[in-house]
Amino acid sequence: MEIAELVASKVLDVPDFPKPGIVFKDLMPLFADGPAFAAAIDAIIAVQGVDSFDVVAGIEARGFVVAAAIAYATGRGVVPIRKAGKLPRDTVSASYALEYGEATLEVHADAFMAGERVLLVDDVLATGGTAAATLGLIEQAGGRVSGFSVVLELSFLDGRSRLAPRPVHALLTV
Ligand code: IMP
Repeated sequence: MEIAELVASKVLDVPDFPKPGIVFKDLMPLFADGPAFAAAIDAIIAVQGVDSFDVVAGIEARGFVVAAAIAYATGRGVVPIRKAGKLPRDTVSASYALEYGEATLEVHADAFMAGERVLLVDDVLATGGTAAATLGLIEQAGGRVSGFSVVLELSFLDGRSRLAPRPVHALLTV
């Protein structure tokens, strides 16, 4: 089975979550299926190239699942990009607009060595606001983003154009 087809078979549509009118894509069935999860992780590593990154960064919270698996499989470390107020030491932070209000993401100021190549991963790319803020955050902290992969891209929200010209890789685009 093609990887996109496999991912599609393990994603559930949840209507009206977290708000009426939103159809939430639930990736938990993919994460819960050992062979399917391993195939998804291996596919991201194959596309990005095992020698293209020094460390893997994942965005709280489902991005941690993807990032930790890639890091373990490739013998690299993992850096969590966290919501505001969760990290215990000095941080750099980036805020971005949500539909209502603002969100802030943080990373430890010493998380990356200067010029370290960072593979950024998350579960879903929607409007691209989270990823755009995170890309800036990693660079602010001294890292250099070598690639950005998601499991699932919601193309109708056009997050990809918000991140242009940076390439975005998705295992499945819907
Ligand atoms: P964006 O900033 O609009 O691109 O939203 C992406 C972030 O929100 C990611 O960190 C995702 O984990 C989360 N997200 C947005 N929509 C969904 C969804 O349908 N399923 C799972 N996560 C989502």
